[in-house]
Amino acid sequence: MQKKNELDKISEVISRYNLKPKKSLSQNFLLDLNLTERIVNSMGQINNHDILEIGPGPGALTRSLLDLGARKVIAIEKDSQFLDPLNEISKAYPGKLKIINADVLSIDIETFLNPPVKIVSNLPYNVGTQILLNFISKKEWPPFWESLTLMFQKEVADRLISEPKNKSYGRLSILAQWRSNVKMVFKVNASSFLPVPKVHSAVVQFTPSFKPQFFAHQETLERIVKDSFNQRRKMLRQSLKKTHFNIEKILTKAEIDPSCRPEELSIKQFCKLANILTAEPN
Ligand code: SAM
Repeated sequence: MQKKNELDKISEVISRYNLKPKKSLSQNFLLDLNLTERIVNSMGQINNHDILEIGPGPGALTRSLLDLGARKVIAIEKDSQFLDPLNEISKAYPGKLKIINADVLSIDIETFLNPPVKIVSNLPYNVGTQILLNFISKKEWPPFWESLTLMFQKEVADRLISEPKNKSYGRLSILAQWRSNVKMVFKVNASSFLPVPKVHSAVVQFTPSFKPQFFAHQETLERIVKDSFNQRRKMLRQSLKKTHFNIEKILTKAEIDPSCRPEELSIKQFCKLANILTAEPN
């Protein structure tokens, strides 16, 4: 199927429809279909899947998903200026593309999807972390999605894959890696986007583990990680004493040195701490 040749280049679509990038919606477009094909190829099999694409914009990634044989693409776009160009793509792939004009943060996306589901996005960076947290903080696990393939600012991508004792290790690293395999697929130069952003980007892929690598009560783990990294330079005995009057005892019971800083703790240690706190809340 060589459908991409029947549609205009993305740069021509942008000028024909007079599409203007909006900063308020973090619009930085990809023009190079070789790059979007590379992203789609990294997703593995897609021809048996519903693919949720967040923020299709003028549609480069959407076109690659369809070219490379996605069973169905469900594209959620907040900005109505893209509806006409997206409808053009839809006509070239009858029955394959469903366009939903909505804010992804305010709809129940699962009602539009049939399993198995994979999710892909060149994320709007101003709400990118929030969108990710909605997917990885699901109560039910494994979640409804089989993989997430998401473009982030490079600095956020570094935090997502970071290990303990690194500057970029923190709350995001732990929440991401607790129940998923997370890998950086490739880096993307700022010059690949229009307009060119100030920072480089990277594609990061998440595959959910069947169950968490270390068991922990989710809410307690999320709370303790947040409290610990709120003051990342302070020792744990200091940053956690406001919320737990007997924190020294609890840390010692978890075999954690109370003078540690949060970036020194592995996910396993945070889980152990969360489990003791769940059993002995104060
Ligand atoms: N996928 C296109 C590409 O790669 O060229 C556009 C990517 S651009 C970085 C982010 C896209 O997300 C824009 O089309 C923007 O309008 C859309 N967007 C921003 N906030 C959104 C939201 N809350 N819900 C759905 N789409 C959103």
